[in-house]
Amino acid sequence: MRFSFLNVVRQALSNNEGWPEQWASPEPKAAYDVVIVGGGGHGLATAYYLASQLGVANVAVLEKGWLGGGNTGRNTTILRSNYLWEESAALYEHALKLWEGLSAELNYNVMYSARGVMMLAHNVHDVQVIRRHVHANRLAGVDNAWLTPDEVKAFCPILNISPDIRYPIVGAALQRRGGTARHDAVAWGYARGASARGVDIIQNCEVTGIRRDAAGAVAGVETTRGPIAARKVGVVAAGHSSVVMAMAGVRMPLDSYPLQALVSEPVKPMMPCVVMSNTIHAYMSQSDKGEMVIGAGTDAYNSYSQTGGLHIANHTLEAICELFPAVRRLRMLRNWGGIVDVTPDRSPIIGLTAVPGLYVNCGWGTGGFKATPGSGHVFAHTIARGEPHRLAAPFALDRFRSGRLIDEAAAAAVAH
Ligand SMILES: Cc1cc2nc3c(=O)[nH]c(=O)nc-3n(C[C@H](O)[C@H](O)[C@H](O)COP(=O)(O)OP(=O)(O)OC[C@H]3O[C@@H](n4cnc5c(N)ncnc54)[C@H](O)[C@@H]3O)c2cc1C
Repeated sequence: MRFSFLNVVRQALSNNEGWPEQWASPEPKAAYDVVIVGGGGHGLATAYYLASQLGVANVAVLEKGWLGGGNTGRNTTILRSNYLWEESAALYEHALKLWEGLSAELNYNVMYSARGVMMLAHNVHDVQVIRRHVHANRLAGVDNAWLTPDEVKAFCPILNISPDIRYPIVGAALQRRGGTARHDAVAWGYARGASARGVDIIQNCEVTGIRRDAAGAVAGVETTRGPIAARKVGVVAAGHSSVVMAMAGVRMPLDSYPLQALVSEPVKPMMPCVVMSNTIHAYMSQSDKGEMVIGAGTDAYNSYSQTGGLHIANHTLEAICELFPAVRRLRMLRNWGGIVDVTPDRSPIIGLTAVPGLYVNCGWGTGGFKATPGSGHVFAHTIARGEPHRLAAPFALDRFRSGRLIDEAAAAAVAH
């Protein structure tokens, strides 16, 4: 049933008891054309575009826990496309354009809010790097603007722009089309759309092995709910991508780190935009419920613990209190962590592998939520056609052999 004004009124009159389940939960079949490993936003978006645009609907999404229970439901929901290199800006801009029409496309309110994302500069080095970004983005047709401290204050009045603080604000880049979206809704909206087109969404189904035939090509997967045959398997397992890929004997250039976030008690609207500081590694926005959503940095060591060091959160909160004195007396309600998959050049890996039939989409690190629609779209094309989508081609795994890196690490230091 579509979400429409008429249906909302009808259901309101009948105690909202007539809404059908949002997606079916079938038993896994013995075989599919495509199996997607990982029911996060990227995996579900891939399945949705395979079924809706590429005529491949005999697809299963296998999720070891619940939909969106990985990084999709744990992130701070910042969306933007103002990356430095043309390859990155093109990919993230593709995603941002899809975000703009996503609620209508899915008939599901993903609460995309183009409230503007501001990236603060605190020193001469920041000014040089961020202004270079602004110029590069403009040349690539991506909106980004340089603001003076007074313009920064006008855009976000709760920021402290005093020159005498430890991290003085000497300017900022602003992408007005950047903003936020509701992370759970993205997973649920794609799941609902994919399920309606015939995709099997199977939760509580962990992939424990990847089967290969005598020629070495992919033949299917082993799961906690039995073996499933498939000639094409797409691995979209974020922080566990290297674990899953090792099941096929593929060694990935990935490190997995905990990354954490916090929310405060809810307060009245006080912050109209998203503010990030790469130098301090703290960023904040306000959710529609009123909580201040605060993101911290990664731990310095590899781990799969889905939590993070207290000292990292403390450091972030010290910086947040100085930048935003108005939040000093707020109490923190919750904090949590997710495992992010980080590549040496801080750019994702999308494409084919040396194993015929095995595809991979990972390495989004600390900043892949914003890419969800674009990532799913180009990955679906890559799987269906058996060759990289034009926008995905530069992000092939092979770049770590050829040396054609897309170094957003040196360019941005952090990529939320
Ligand atoms: C605290 C935090 C803040 C962040 N902030 C931002 C932000 O502001 N903006 C932004 O753009 N990005 C942000 N990110 C990054 C972003 O969340 C991720 O890059 C993105 O959500 C990855 O999506 P995904 O679908 O690939 O991964 P996930 O949502 O993690 O999905 C992968 C799924 O694979 C499943 N899986 C793993 N192994 C198996 C297996 N063997 N069998 C079956 N299933 C398996 C997992 O359970 C998981 O559900 C943040 C991340 C964190 C942790």
